[in-house]
Amino acid sequence: MNYTGITCSKGIGIGKVLKISDYNEIPNNYANYATELCKPNIEQSRFEEAISCYKERLELLSKSLDKSLGEKQGDIIRSHLVILDDEDMLGQIYKLIDTGKSADESVYDVLNVYANIFEGSDDEVIRERSTDVLDIQSGLLRILSGKDQVYSIEPDTVLVGRNILPSFLSEIDFSKITGIISGYGNETSHTAILAKSMGIPMISGAYKVYDAVSDGDMIIVDAINQEAVTNPSEEQIDKYRLLNEQIKSQEKELYAYKNIETVTADGRKINLFCNLSGKVSAKDFEDCGAEGVGLYRTEMLFMNSDKMPSEDEQFEAYRALAELAGEKLVVIRTLDAGGDKSISYLHFPKEDNPFLGVRAIRYCLKETEVFKTQIKAVLRASYYGKVSILLPMITCIGEILSAKEIIGECKDELKVNGILFDEKIKIGCMIETPSAAILAEEIAKEVDFISIGTNDLIQYTMCADRGNGMVSYLYSPFQPAVIRLIGNICRAGKSAGIPVEICGEAAANEVILPLLIGLGLDTLSVSPSGILSLRRRVCSLNFEACKKMAGEVLKIYSEEEIFAYLSRFIETI
Ligand code: PEP
Ligand code: MG
Repeated sequence: MNYTGITCSKGIGIGKVLKISDYNEIPNNYANYATELCKPNIEQSRFEEAISCYKERLELLSKSLDKSLGEKQGDIIRSHLVILDDEDMLGQIYKLIDTGKSADESVYDVLNVYANIFEGSDDEVIRERSTDVLDIQSGLLRILSGKDQVYSIEPDTVLVGRNILPSFLSEIDFSKITGIISGYGNETSHTAILAKSMGIPMISGAYKVYDAVSDGDMIIVDAINQEAVTNPSEEQIDKYRLLNEQIKSQEKELYAYKNIETVTADGRKINLFCNLSGKVSAKDFEDCGAEGVGLYRTEMLFMNSDKMPSEDEQFEAYRALAELAGEKLVVIRTLDAGGDKSISYLHFPKEDNPFLGVRAIRYCLKETEVFKTQIKAVLRASYYGKVSILLPMITCIGEILSAKEIIGECKDELKVNGILFDEKIKIGCMIETPSAAILAEEIAKEVDFISIGTNDLIQYTMCADRGNGMVSYLYSPFQPAVIRLIGNICRAGKSAGIPVEICGEAAANEVILPLLIGLGLDTLSVSPSGILSLRRRVCSLNFEACKKMAGEVLKIYSEEEIFAYLSRFIETI
């Protein structure tokens, strides 16, 4: 049977299904699913199973602590068991479940209320209970979310889930994964971005696949023709194997573009950088042909850990990257957590609209110790390479000024302690909100460079959730409003004399590429797998023709017409 989806990461994946729990985390996002998925009887039994599993663990743990460290320590865990038996609390959770909320959301909400009450007490002992409650909350949520579940991943596995989250993907051995099918998400969702950087074919929006398959079934992820094929015949498998080989041999032809300069046919130099996250091997970096790292997403470092990575741990990771890149530029983006990247130990507030809430720079300016720890680690790494700092999700000048002030304090602290760093380190900001795009001229005076994040810029300009397939018809880089904002940012960068790069997924779209170049962008940062084909395309363009064409496109005010115009333009190349 064939199921249609959206290609998130191109390629063909053949393997056996491993179903990933429906509820793999992020209570913040539960509102998106609640109406469709929550049946009180199902949620009640999920909750009861989670409680009994958690209690069993705590009992074992308390006994082992009795033995190893003494009964006093065991008592700490037993006090958690007492909280778990609190009838009033349990009653409130059941009540919320009865209203149609998921077990996860009910646990999250009720335990937050308890934690806040304890937190507000004048009595220190009672205040301490608030931490216990949050501990219990996170333990239960991990069990409910399936994150606690240990999946045994065999080679040639295709992950199938209703919503496979980036945090899940970042924790597993992805070398065994041949494909991903997720109900939720699109090309710019963070799971898709990760899949692309890992070279795993992925489609999303194929909602029905999850219910149609069982663990161990054969499945094909056709992320070329945007579909999933369940229980394929031998003949179909052979056909897809052949197609896969053809794709791989076409990729090999691109190697010819690995070591050549990226210049348009009429001589304009374009920098082709790559977007990275997590650990990167020297070989992968070398093989992708990037001229620098235009965006290093630091969130993965935080997601791969159960606790906040220390300054030293972060420093080691950033230094390794700086050294690996050598003379090439490395742009390290400060923590962009929140939205779909909730990190449990950072205790994000519960919000109805997490993408519009305490995300990225907003979180860092609120939790300044988390921010300072990261900034000091980046500064220290700057001594070992060519490192810049990038601030995400800026909406107003005040955020830049506050961030710069904190960076200044961090520099002072390092100086006092005699720690070396690049004193002239460049500070840039992402422009990924309409507000920042409108203020680009003023922003350009405050920073050393600008990086356009189209993944979010499209979402916030069009008011269309970047992962929601139902509004994907609006979520397009060809929208005239988005293009005009990009044009505005390029003009602002040019008049301030600072570099403007683009690091959203649109940079890898070969149809929009001539327009981006024509608007004046000379640095594109894309997934490593996209560098070589983009270089081939750039080398075939004529900058002057692109510039003239961009002037025409800025006058068009329909998305369809812009797309058609650009499609015709690339046919003439
Ligand atoms: C963007 O928004 O375009 C971007 C590069 O940031 P992220 O995808 O990590 O939100
Ligand atoms: Mg972004």
